[in-house]
Amino acid sequence: MLTTLPDTQLSVTEARTRIMRELAPIMEVERVGIRDSLGRILAKDIFAPFDVPPYTNSAMDGYAIQGIDLLLEKPRAFTVIGTALAGKPYQGSVGTNETVQIMTGAVMPTGADTVLMQEHVQWNADTVRLLPEYVPRYTKNQNTQGHNVRQAGEDLAKDALVLRAGKRILPADLGLLASLGIGKVDVKRRLRVAFFCTGNELRSIGEPLEKGSIYDSNRYTLYGMLSQSGIQIHDLGVVADEHPAIRDTLIKASAISDVIIATGGVSVGEADHVKAVLGELGQVHFWKIAMKPGHPLAFGQIESTQFFGLPGNPVAVMVSFYQFVQFALAHIAGEYDPQPVPTQRVPCLSHLPKKIGRTEFVRGILESNSKGQLTVRKTGNQGSGILHSMSLANCFIVLLQEQADIEPGTLVEVQIFKGMI
Ligand code: AMP
Ligand code: MG
Repeated sequence: MLTTLPDTQLSVTEARTRIMRELAPIMEVERVGIRDSLGRILAKDIFAPFDVPPYTNSAMDGYAIQGIDLLLEKPRAFTVIGTALAGKPYQGSVGTNETVQIMTGAVMPTGADTVLMQEHVQWNADTVRLLPEYVPRYTKNQNTQGHNVRQAGEDLAKDALVLRAGKRILPADLGLLASLGIGKVDVKRRLRVAFFCTGNELRSIGEPLEKGSIYDSNRYTLYGMLSQSGIQIHDLGVVADEHPAIRDTLIKASAISDVIIATGGVSVGEADHVKAVLGELGQVHFWKIAMKPGHPLAFGQIESTQFFGLPGNPVAVMVSFYQFVQFALAHIAGEYDPQPVPTQRVPCLSHLPKKIGRTEFVRGILESNSKGQLTVRKTGNQGSGILHSMSLANCFIVLLQEQADIEPGTLVEVQIFKGMI
């Protein structure tokens, strides 16, 4: 079976392109309450049903006046004729040299078009006077209108596009939807992801560890990386390194999920059955990427379910998840234009051995030096099974395919973990 598999080693970029080519976004839509839409993918464009803010209002606590009065000669004094509070507008109108005391968010009274900040005036009986030192602020270029005022529709005009279909709904979007009075939202149905780990040596927490066995940690890192709102997780546990067991699990997983993730058993050892079973049940698109860690990564599909067979080494699982699976999940979930995590270039303090011809992901610590400049250094032992150095890291140092050994002081590409959930 293995001899019939595509055996080309792809670059990281080629692998991403090949993955993207196979993916189709979920089409099913469901309507949920606004709070439940957090983290979900918006299925339809949202337009403003009215102007936001819906009325012109004061941006400050102060005094609402007719701005043109400020162009008159002294005394720039105004008779206070009433008060406007947020939620309690002033009913009358403001005439020449009159003012209404106004609070932030209150409707601008008829006639008034500018607000003098409370701190810029002086009270005298029922009159307020603009302090001379502040006059220039309100009269620059003869422009005396609109100071400290939020115009109706200045945030969003009625019918403007507010949120595009395909946007992941974040806290600011919840507030924006609420400001429009929208209580129900059409979102894509949740993405269903099933995962399992293969390995006869794997034991679960609570079981004794006899010689030659280890605790299964991949199920927990996968659970952690997948635990973001919008994903329905099916943990199918540990599966023995046997052809029939892997086959049964893959058949079951493909029936209940959009994406299957497996770890282990994708290399070329005796007990590595995953690719063979995948080839029988569906297609293997590729299984080798020129990268470290994460060199064997079987990507394929069983009917319309996408399959990612990640290597068993715990760090390789995390690297390949963040480099390939995460943005693929975002694309299938229906997010528009999902991108791999962006990189930035910073000087590296460590010496890093690097083999030309493959991309290497080094666990790094990004920090500011005493001058406030960002620098990066490696976390220590970079073995692909050493999860501790992954836990210490806050970024990946990405060494590009064509790069050779890195000497201290060289600029390197860094991907910050923030945004890698
Ligand atoms: P494999 O890709 O199956 O050859 O596994 C590579 C290495 O990762 C071996 O040392 C395995 O024992 C280890 N490994 C595989 N799966 C897991 C897991 N779920 N948790 C922890 N280590 C694992
Ligand atoms: Mg194994």
